[in-house]
Amino acid sequence: MSRGSPFGDRVLTFSRIRRPEIGSVVLSALVAAYLLLATNNSFWNRAASYFDSSKASLLLFGAALYLALFAILIPMSIKYLMKPALIFFILVSASASYFGDAFGIIVDRDMIGNAVVTTPAEASHFLTGSLAQHLVIYALLPSLLVAWVKVRHRRFLLKFVVNLLFFTVALFAAGGLIYSNFATFAYVLREHTDLMKRFNPTGPLVAAARYGLSTYRERNLVVQPLGTDARQGGRIAQAGKPVVVVIVAGETARAMNFSLDGYDRETNPELKALGVVNYSNATSCGTATAVSLPCMFSVYPRDEYSDWKARSTENLVHVLTHAGVSVSWWDNNTGSKGIADLISFASMTKQKGSPLCSRGECLDEIFLGELDRKLGATTGNSVIVLHQLGSHGPSYYRRYPEAFRRFTPDCRTAELMRCTTAEIVNAYDNTILYTDHVLASVAKLLEKHQDRLAGAMIYMSDHGESLGENGIYLHGAPYAIAPKEQTRVPFIAWFSKPYQTAMGVDTDCLAKEKDQPRSHDNLFHTVLGMMDVQTKTYNRALDAFAACTRPDAQKPASGFHAVDSQPVVGTASGVL
Ligand SMILES: [Zn+2]
Repeated sequence: MSRGSPFGDRVLTFSRIRRPEIGSVVLSALVAAYLLLATNNSFWNRAASYFDSSKASLLLFGAALYLALFAILIPMSIKYLMKPALIFFILVSASASYFGDAFGIIVDRDMIGNAVVTTPAEASHFLTGSLAQHLVIYALLPSLLVAWVKVRHRRFLLKFVVNLLFFTVALFAAGGLIYSNFATFAYVLREHTDLMKRFNPTGPLVAAARYGLSTYRERNLVVQPLGTDARQGGRIAQAGKPVVVVIVAGETARAMNFSLDGYDRETNPELKALGVVNYSNATSCGTATAVSLPCMFSVYPRDEYSDWKARSTENLVHVLTHAGVSVSWWDNNTGSKGIADLISFASMTKQKGSPLCSRGECLDEIFLGELDRKLGATTGNSVIVLHQLGSHGPSYYRRYPEAFRRFTPDCRTAELMRCTTAEIVNAYDNTILYTDHVLASVAKLLEKHQDRLAGAMIYMSDHGESLGENGIYLHGAPYAIAPKEQTRVPFIAWFSKPYQTAMGVDTDCLAKEKDQPRSHDNLFHTVLGMMDVQTKTYNRALDAFAACTRPDAQKPASGFHAVDSQPVVGTASGVL
């Protein structure tokens, strides 16, 4: 005979079990121990290696942290506040510990920023069975237990006195332990600023508070104009045809997996055949899109850069606009992070009917059709920014079509821990192979239209990626401790013959500079140089191509006029 609910019997049995009673101080002590021991795996792994030579110091440090955590929980042990507060701490700790344990990610201020600006499609890659399993074990079950037990609270006045006593004693004891070995603790924390950021739940909570504060400050932000004196110079004026520079802002591509940068797998066959200029020693400004991208387009070099400065000052696209250059930003990623506000912006990810798009994401070839049309119709000097999806993880296998699935077996899931390192690297290398194709295709389109345009392309990735080296995956590590896998980025340029002639770029000269250190600091000034923009804001020393660009390029010796006299062939009308 059927009952009302398949769980009817069990619910009945469960309700018959007497709810255990527990004192509020004891519950705080137990939850503090749970947070410290069960949700801090990656913290303890790091701490063990940082305190390498002294196990006693590590134990003392752990005891001090326990007492401090207990002291934080004690003031929450008020009826009606206690259980929600404890469950909140458990949820925060358990969620952050998943990303720490599975990917070696630190949930710091920038990572909170990344999470806030991410798209549903990007976030959905993390909603996996492993995450669900982790949350059930480390968040749901302990939370249910906390919700279920009966908490004994003392009468208000007595409770206040007892809690104050526990709070004070715990805090003083924690302070005493720290003081007893202060030199060691101070040294370790100063040398390893990542350690406390990894500690749950305080690391992510402090990060969220810092992110909230900076966002609040931005409400009063007034953007200062930059480069309002910008004018187009003589070379571009006499170029004889529109000059078009395509900036490809790459995503998550690390230099060490580019064969152009010495990788032993051929991941750049098309760019190699094209004969591009490649810098093998380029570094990123940050380790996450939300930091690197604004920094790349900002006038500030990395050592002077801050998020606040970038947001309160106009950037490269505005200076180009002041000079009368038409600037468009096409985005196949999570947006321009405020860079392209006030200029022509088009998101590529909404092209639902395209075979290149599925589940809210598109392959990077989505740019090519529109680019072909745009180049066919361009009549003025222009810069087009293509913000790629590139190699963004963890779903590398969704960044390339079947034709580029050349390195196999490739990891076919977002749950990287289910794949071998070789499978992860294979999938990642396929994304680089595909980016190689997309970049070469952009160059070939500029070449296709070179009878009526002088085109060039510049490509830099925003940051690299960890593929399991030292147990670290993905990106976003604090810069000071970021591995080179996350900070060494590809930097590639290609110049059409008409561009080389009109703008006087000597690619043989550039090829000789390929091992010179370059970085995101160069992008701002290099693009101004590429468009011959004259402004006080331009710093020639940071223009990567300046030393190999002839100022007298427009002289007849260049010979491009012969090409220019060819009939104009437009491909199609219609621009974004
Ligand atoms: Zn990125």
